[in-house]
Amino acid sequence: MEEESNYKKYRGKCKEFCEKEIEKNPLLILVRGYYYCPIWNKEEPHWWLIDDKNNIIDPTVLQFPSKGFGEYIPFNGFVNCSECGKEIKEEEADIDGNYCFCSNDCHLRFVGLEEYIRK
Ligand SMILES: [Zn+2]
Repeated sequence: MEEESNYKKYRGKCKEFCEKEIEKNPLLILVRGYYYCPIWNKEEPHWWLIDDKNNIIDPTVLQFPSKGFGEYIPFNGFVNCSECGKEIKEEEADIDGNYCFCSNDCHLRFVGLEEYIRK
């Protein structure tokens, strides 16, 4: 299937493909953020490029079934706590795999260890 091979070809290689484009055209700017795919109905971490006219150039767009019709959301340096939803600076977040937490208490609550929260 064509869709499946595009997925394998581009999946996880967004940044690599973008860097190759920058080598060809140094005016392009690398953007890190999320791509919202309306077909999957979720946001995926993603890298893409913008040119000097602010046009989005996405060398790995074919990995998404929506092929660029979704929404590009630039990363603003903040993440949301997986437990309480509070917005926190990424460098201050307590990151555990795909999850992040604003505090140790939220981390403990998330993993079901409330009894260890210091009162
Ligand atoms: Zn929290």
